[in-house]
Amino acid sequence: MITKVRNHISQNEPLLFERSSPGKKAYQLPELDVPGVDAGEALGAENVRPEIEGFPEVSEVEAIRHYTRLSTWNYAIDYGMYPLGSCTMKYNPRINELVARIEGLAWAHPYQPEALAQGSMEVMARLEAALAEITGMDALTLQPAAGAHGELTGILLIRALLEKRGNPRKKILIPDSAHGTNPASAAIAGYAVENVKSTETGLLDVSALERIVDEDVAALMVTNPNTLGVFEENIIPVAEILHAKGALLYMDGANMNALVGIARPGDFGVDVLHLNLHKTFSTPHGGGGPGAGPVAVKKVLEPFLPIPRLKRSGKKLTFDYKRKDSIGRVRAFYGNFGVLVRALAYILAHGGPGLRNATVDAVLNAVYIRKQLEPYFDLPYGSPNMHEVVFSDERQAKNGVRTGDIAKRLIDYGFHPYTVSFPLIVHGALMIEPTETEGKRELDQFIEAMISIAKEAESDPQLVKTAPHNARTSRVDEVGAARKPVVRWKP
Ligand SMILES: *Cc1c(COP(=O)(O)O)cnc(C)c1O
Repeated sequence: MITKVRNHISQNEPLLFERSSPGKKAYQLPELDVPGVDAGEALGAENVRPEIEGFPEVSEVEAIRHYTRLSTWNYAIDYGMYPLGSCTMKYNPRINELVARIEGLAWAHPYQPEALAQGSMEVMARLEAALAEITGMDALTLQPAAGAHGELTGILLIRALLEKRGNPRKKILIPDSAHGTNPASAAIAGYAVENVKSTETGLLDVSALERIVDEDVAALMVTNPNTLGVFEENIIPVAEILHAKGALLYMDGANMNALVGIARPGDFGVDVLHLNLHKTFSTPHGGGGPGAGPVAVKKVLEPFLPIPRLKRSGKKLTFDYKRKDSIGRVRAFYGNFGVLVRALAYILAHGGPGLRNATVDAVLNAVYIRKQLEPYFDLPYGSPNMHEVVFSDERQAKNGVRTGDIAKRLIDYGFHPYTVSFPLIVHGALMIEPTETEGKRELDQFIEAMISIAKEAESDPQLVKTAPHNARTSRVDEVGAARKPVVRWKP
């Protein structure tokens, strides 16, 4: 009797190298109708490799099936919900892809003369204008390639301004709820990092801050809403405390998905922030990019922005390289242009009211999840959450079930895990961000799965602790895989 079989053909797919049999080919070419030449003679023997050792030889159908089967091992946003908190894994409308593939944009060359690149430059100019309006800031650079790169750029801008004023200062303050990239960026820009403790409600401690901000502090880096998904409601007094001491307020804008169309960082005292176009403005991400982390600044920081700067003179756009206070380039050419195109397409397709709706829905979805799951999971910070919600595994831990186990069990239910063990200020965190692109049916399926796992953690903790049971591989040595990766196939 067959009880449960794994999909035999797709789940047992070997390496392509192991499928190889000598002489097989995955292509057919017509017979030569010109005289053949010997490659060694034509190119020089030293430029011709006679044989590639171990090169897989397979037929066309074997090559196609191999990669198609491998693709079924992956989880994808096109397949289902991807509730990774902090990552804003929203569904990316196909129209953005179509626009990014328009010939004139996709084939534009960075060395094209300005006169022949006016369309591409117009895309960048309009995106700068749209993002300035959305953030309430005065000027932008589109160059940084990711969020963390934007952070580094932003801190270098702060350093350049303070240096110009006579003293770059020594430290950057960072709350304990911050994303790990924040302290890394501050340190690479040459600053010491000082941690700021959050209050019991998970917010910035204003009076503690008042005590520690002095003339050595260059800036505070704050994520708003913070990584607990809670809005820093004292952000205006916080900005005032910093400004009174000549320090600046940096905002990590990776969570703009909770603010777009509702509140503007430029209006609540932020001097510089980065955006993650690949999160908020819908570019496929994960697996290492490409992304875009534009940096938006107030007027005081504008002279220091990377070169070149887009400049409009009459109808013409030009690149301005002559800016004596600029920190220079942070990236070759003009940033990841394809991502910029997608972001502008997304913004224009939605329009102001549409962007605002996306924000409202993103928050509504996360609040719905909180309300449904609150009876089953511990919620350490009770403040009303915005676009994401962070539970802890405290209740399940009593049965030895930890957040990582629950996440692995979620794989058996067909969902991508949520973010595990982050933010660090929550012990055993389950960080869930549904984004606005999930409908109620999908959310309910996720909620059902989570409730079912919470019940399993009571009735059969061992089942959860040894999950996943339906995946290709079960528990792997994650530390070993990260520290000693085996990336080369050996016969
Ligand atoms: C994603 C994220 C970052 C880093 O962005 P990358 O594009 O991955 O470099 C920084 N801060 C927060 C809060 C984030 O969610």
